[in-house]
Amino acid sequence: MGSANLKKKLEETKQYIKKLKQQKQELLAESKKMLGNIHSLEEHIRDAERDIKTISDRIFIETGIPEAAIALRNKILCAMAKTSNGDITVRQYSTLLNDIDAMKETLGRECPHPCVLSYDGYEGSYIHDYDDDTSGYRLCVVCGFGEHEKTPGKDDYQTLNEEKGKRTVRRDLRDDYTARTDTYPSIWDMPLKTFIQMFKRSAGKMNADWKEKA
Ligand SMILES: [Zn+2]
Repeated sequence: MGSANLKKKLEETKQYIKKLKQQKQELLAESKKMLGNIHSLEEHIRDAERDIKTISDRIFIETGIPEAAIALRNKILCAMAKTSNGDITVRQYSTLLNDIDAMKETLGRECPHPCVLSYDGYEGSYIHDYDDDTSGYRLCVVCGFGEHEKTPGKDDYQTLNEEKGKRTVRRDLRDDYTARTDTYPSIWDMPLKTFIQMFKRSAGKMNADWKEKA
């Protein structure tokens, strides 16, 4: 091969490399764009999954609490209100208390504990030799059934575990009530409606949202 041909070959090869590098640049730009598309798709998927959780929660709260349990709970609240009526006799008062106890027992037996408040436990710290551990607590707002976790900080509840489609659990982070101080709200101070509204408001979330939106 003469030198003129070699020079031609050299020039052709240089051009060839330039073209390949250009193609590489184009592909890189395209893959960067594709990666951006994938990230945005992933974000949409996460949003939709959150929506599914929120909607399923709402459906559960609308349909998961048995009508009979709601009715019995309201009946108990009515009976409790009657006990503070000054006009009733001692005998009537004592009958009412017995009725209330019996109704609470029935409710506790039949309630599937669909809506539960949860108070975080703590497994304790190494420096305190785990003496500062605290058992978490869960409380059914329909019937008042409460349960401590078996191992502090492990969320291992025998009955009030978080069963998908069977139970909805919200962490109650109000300062007045904590597992640490062992104080929990009385579920009988509030109508079920108020609790249910809170559960609806906090659909799809972990924590109870007690604040009404203005
Ligand atoms: Zn219950």
